[in-house]
Amino acid sequence: MSISYRNGTLPKGPLKVDRPLSMNSSTKSSSSSFKSKNSGHAPASATRRKSTGSVVNSAVNAKDDNSVSGRVRVAVRLRPRNAEEMESDADFADCVELQPELKRLKLRRNNWDSDTYEFDEVLTEFSSQKRVYEVVAKPVVESVLDGYNGTVMAYGQTGTGKTYTLGRLGEEDTADRGIMVRAMEDILAEITPEKDSISVSYFQLYMESIQDLLNPMNDNISIVEDPKTGDVSLPGATTVDIRDQKSFLELLRVGEAHRFAANTKLNTESSRSHAMLMVHVERSVKGRDSAISSENGSASHTAKAFKPPVVRKSKLVVVDLAGSERIDKSGSEAHTLEEAKSINLSLSALGKCINALAENSAHVPVRDSKLTRLLRDSFGGTARTSLVITIGPSPRHRGETASTIMFGQRAMKVENMLKIKEEFDYKSLSRRLEMQLEKQIAEHERQQKGFKDDIERITREAQIRITEAEKGYAEALERERSRYQNDYMDAISKLEEQWAANKQKQENEKAKSSMLSASLEVAELKKLFENETISRKVAEEEIDNLKNQLAQWKRSEAAGNSEILKLRKMLEDEKCQKAKLEEEIAVLRNQLMQLSFEADEVKATRRNLDRGETVKLPGTLDSPIPPFMHQHLGDSGNGEKASMAKLFEQVGLQKILSLLESEDADVQIHAVKVVANLAAEEANQERIVKAGGLKSLLTLLRSSNDETIHRVAAGAIANLAMNETNQELIMSQGGISLLSVTAAKAEDPQTLRMVAGAIANLCGNEKLQPKLRGEGGVKALLGMVRCRHPDVLAQVARGIANFAKCESRAYTQGSKTGKSLLIEDGTLPWIVQNANNEASPIRRHIELALCHLAQHEINAKDMIKVGALWELVRISRDCSRDDIRTLAYRTLTSSPSFQAELKRLRIDYG
Ligand code: ADP
Ligand code: MG
Repeated sequence: MSISYRNGTLPKGPLKVDRPLSMNSSTKSSSSSFKSKNSGHAPASATRRKSTGSVVNSAVNAKDDNSVSGRVRVAVRLRPRNAEEMESDADFADCVELQPELKRLKLRRNNWDSDTYEFDEVLTEFSSQKRVYEVVAKPVVESVLDGYNGTVMAYGQTGTGKTYTLGRLGEEDTADRGIMVRAMEDILAEITPEKDSISVSYFQLYMESIQDLLNPMNDNISIVEDPKTGDVSLPGATTVDIRDQKSFLELLRVGEAHRFAANTKLNTESSRSHAMLMVHVERSVKGRDSAISSENGSASHTAKAFKPPVVRKSKLVVVDLAGSERIDKSGSEAHTLEEAKSINLSLSALGKCINALAENSAHVPVRDSKLTRLLRDSFGGTARTSLVITIGPSPRHRGETASTIMFGQRAMKVENMLKIKEEFDYKSLSRRLEMQLEKQIAEHERQQKGFKDDIERITREAQIRITEAEKGYAEALERERSRYQNDYMDAISKLEEQWAANKQKQENEKAKSSMLSASLEVAELKKLFENETISRKVAEEEIDNLKNQLAQWKRSEAAGNSEILKLRKMLEDEKCQKAKLEEEIAVLRNQLMQLSFEADEVKATRRNLDRGETVKLPGTLDSPIPPFMHQHLGDSGNGEKASMAKLFEQVGLQKILSLLESEDADVQIHAVKVVANLAAEEANQERIVKAGGLKSLLTLLRSSNDETIHRVAAGAIANLAMNETNQELIMSQGGISLLSVTAAKAEDPQTLRMVAGAIANLCGNEKLQPKLRGEGGVKALLGMVRCRHPDVLAQVARGIANFAKCESRAYTQGSKTGKSLLIEDGTLPWIVQNANNEASPIRRHIELALCHLAQHEINAKDMIKVGALWELVRISRDCSRDDIRTLAYRTLTSSPSFQAELKRLRIDYG
């Protein structure tokens, strides 16, 4: 839609009274003819201006859709005579005569002649400020509100009322308000504060420099021209947003004060500077009202959404020009010519431009001055321009008045092409889009927040579920665990039971096997025993025979003796016979001795087997073993003992000992038996040893291969070995190794018993222990256990017990520190095996040995290893002998190692 109303133009050319007054050709013009006129088909915005109309609306030449031609409107205002004029011109008529209804002004040439000029409006000295505003400025203000630029300018000699017309604030009397105040009132009344905006800048131009009246520091503002549009602007000028009239009045006041101050500083008057108020009006336009947005009427709704709104940016310029009088004429100021030229430059340039425009000249010297540059749009531009020329009545200033009138007449010829200052409001679109964007961002944020909340909620729920699941799982796990633990404990206890059962079984089996071996052994022993019994029976029979013989012999001897006594004298000669008889007696005696020795041996064996014990335990251990041989003498009666003593006396020890070296084995045997019997008597021992008997016996052990000799000799050595001095001698003469060799070779249990007894006795000597062990004594003892004869075992056990006891003493005295030599020599397994031997002599010795060994921590580990602990426990519980039992208990409770082991095995002990 195009702008539908048109402003007409006046016919060109100067208007003089002598010319036809064709300018008011509009038949519809009202009394206030200087008004824009609605053509009737104006848009809604135009209804407001129904009362107004253009002076001429017939000659409308639209150059394009958005521009209309609009001539510069010129009104003339006459100031009333002032006091001075009243007085000085009292006798003269005014130089002008006004015919306002004809819009004519007559300028007197002289008393009879005058020139008549027609103006768009002629305002008499009685015209109110209100009327002046309505006639001069209101149409321009309305145009500005419609989007056109507008200019209201006052031109005239100093003191003719330019400032009065434009700038009165009307503070004392509101009727005095000038155009500026009234224009702003109308603008503020019209605009919509939310959509539209008003801003103002106020400056003055003096000697081609622009000073900001709103900021005095800003005293040289430069003009900026848009190279495309040619629009000029003063970006450096202060712009103040106006929201109400009060603030505008304040701004004008401030501006006026600054103008006064600036002019004082510049040593000039306000009449010498041009003041310019610029009111920027920015209004948003609804689509259909807009000239540019309506070009695209078919635009879709969506396209419209992104179509920038249209904004109209118009400005109203109110120009209070410097006095139009020629400077050189103003008189009072002492300006140089150059200064005067400069001061008038802008004004004369304006005149020249207006002349050029009025004459349609090809060149308009707009660029000659800052004023013309600033007013470029006002004259020959796109603005609606209204000029009020002010004149005074005084004939004295007729020339100036005439010049002012001529200026006005020329200005009336200036044609402008009004153009709406409309543009797309990209800023507003951007704001709107930004707002939309913000909205969407906010919405998005809300959605995101919602989404986040959802996620958080879901996470929380999931967390709760996880926690529950974990809890459930943990509980199940715990249940499983305790179940498994119970199962495990059950399994353990079952295993333990099984283990106990197994152990029991094992022990049973062991016992069984040991019983088996024992029964085998028993069978063997039984056999041996039977053999022994048989041989004993034979021996007994023999003994009986011998006894009979002996008895016979005794009887016969007695008879013989009595016969001899009777026949002594008769048979004295028969000495040879008697000697023979005595020899026979000796032989018989030897035989008897042998027999009785053998019998004794058998008896001793039987006794041992029957009694199962030959030694006394702990308390009597120091007196190790009863002599091996001498009992039989006692058993056989004191007679034999006496005979033996007698024989000993008769034959002589040396003789008997020499017989030991006899070539004849029988003699050797007899001799060794005799020595052995002698050695059984403690009383004889010293003598035997002194006589070298011990040495001879040891030599026999070495040299003889005869088992009997070995046995008897060993028995003799054993008896001798009861004496401490002899023990040392035996040792020093290599007795241990000889005994060891014999032990290794011998098979006869009695031989072994003798050897073992000898070593056992030696074991009881503390001093000799290391040597004894060093020469293999302990090993020899241990070797003899291959013979399972209880007598042998009993001697071995006794030896071990003796050894352990001495060692224990040595430990206590501090002379021994290392591990027991018994352990070193590997006796422990045998000890443990036989600790519970059914033969009590064996058992007691071993029990004692164990207690002695256990008393010393250093042995504990090895003992534990082979199971000695159990035996000790058993001893401490079951041993029938209180002293051993107590000893075992004490030993166990005081030993940290045993205690630790017991604890480890969770055996409650102590
Ligand atoms: P200018 O600005 O053109 O130099 P002013 O506006 O200062 O002139 O006016 C000069 C003097 O004349 C001021 O005292 C002013 O009040 C007075 N005056 C001007 N015009 C009128 C008028 N129309 N009615 C009454 N007094 C006026
Ligand atoms: Mg003034």
